[in-house]
Amino acid sequence: MNGCVIPGTGIAVDYWKVHTDTKYFFLTHLHGDHVVGLTSTWRYPIYCSSVTAELLAERYGVDRDLLRSLEVGQSHIVPPEQQQQCLPSMTVTVIDANHCPGAVMFLFEGHFGKILYTGDFRYKPCMVDRGSPLASHLGKVDKLYLDNTYCSSKCVFPTREEALEEIVSIVRKHNDYDILLGLRKLGKEELVARLALTLNEWVSVSSERLSVAMYRELPDVFEANQPNLRIRVVPFESVTAKYMQKLNEAKPTIAILPTALFQGIAGRRSAKSPHIFTVPYSDHSSYPELMEFVSKVRPAEVVPIVRAGKVGGVDLSNRTDMSCFSRFLRKTRPRPDQYENTGTVQADSAASPHPADNPLSSSAAHRTRNGPLKRRRSKPWQVQRKRKSCPKGAIYLSDDDGD
Ligand SMILES: [Zn+2]
Repeated sequence: MNGCVIPGTGIAVDYWKVHTDTKYFFLTHLHGDHVVGLTSTWRYPIYCSSVTAELLAERYGVDRDLLRSLEVGQSHIVPPEQQQQCLPSMTVTVIDANHCPGAVMFLFEGHFGKILYTGDFRYKPCMVDRGSPLASHLGKVDKLYLDNTYCSSKCVFPTREEALEEIVSIVRKHNDYDILLGLRKLGKEELVARLALTLNEWVSVSSERLSVAMYRELPDVFEANQPNLRIRVVPFESVTAKYMQKLNEAKPTIAILPTALFQGIAGRRSAKSPHIFTVPYSDHSSYPELMEFVSKVRPAEVVPIVRAGKVGGVDLSNRTDMSCFSRFLRKTRPRPDQYENTGTVQADSAASPHPADNPLSSSAAHRTRNGPLKRRRSKPWQVQRKRKSCPKGAIYLSDDDGD
């Protein structure tokens, strides 16, 4: 699970246990490791992007009346309802995380100071450019919760552009082969679209992924469940040496895994199978990108979001060590009302209050409904907009659970 309760704020991000300290629930994106514990029986309002809200209702069956869609690239005052005025209001600015459909960062501002929670993200310079939602906050963030998935000097990989070129190159060297792309349930739709356009071929995808592609208005290159197409997206975990061996007994087939999980600067053939290639197309920031991002944000403190451990067999036990950013930290004296605790809290589930005890569970929870996942610009429930900022979120590219 990659979520936490931010101490002294009442804010839970990607954290789905209810206890007395949790007043607001925010969801950065819909990858599996960020929704552990979130089910259709959930009964509290959830703040997220409109894309995530739609997917959450469709895929997880969460009550649409609980979904609070926040427009990306905008700042919002939370909570806005009369019934919630007993709680101190705060402002949340929603920033495109350049990770997977609907993925966002949250910048919280309130009595607790200024907290930036990145969730999973892939850094790109325009995130901190002049005119970006973050621009006016650089050098002012008190606490930065950082996606440290690849926070290790070993984790240097190419841009997505370079990785895409690598994938195209592999496919072109296998003209007589069927091509499988191993992907997680959500993310990398843009990669598939660009690959299809470059090769001028249709790609078979699941109906769920087709739905996401249509909603995002990607180029019309996707076909739902067409096993006869040469290029097919398959579940990431289905690509095994044994499976590829079996396929090759019937027809020459290679699989490409676009992920940085297995490291390496360029695409390479798997040691386990001559039919599997891994290419470090990542939707998480590389180590140099993390360095650049933190150097621009200049927070007073950095807190890792992801626990240490092995990733794709690579030892990343040092990725929670944030001392690598110490030279970028802003020196500051804590204010008297500054929250005290530091570091991520993984609170245990305590006595779950009845929804009526939670200010966010009042009748204010029942606003207009979000529609089904389809191409339209709906007017979902929105919290009060504070001010307009530009641009309206970065362009989506894509990723997976820990890729
Ligand atoms: Zn993710």
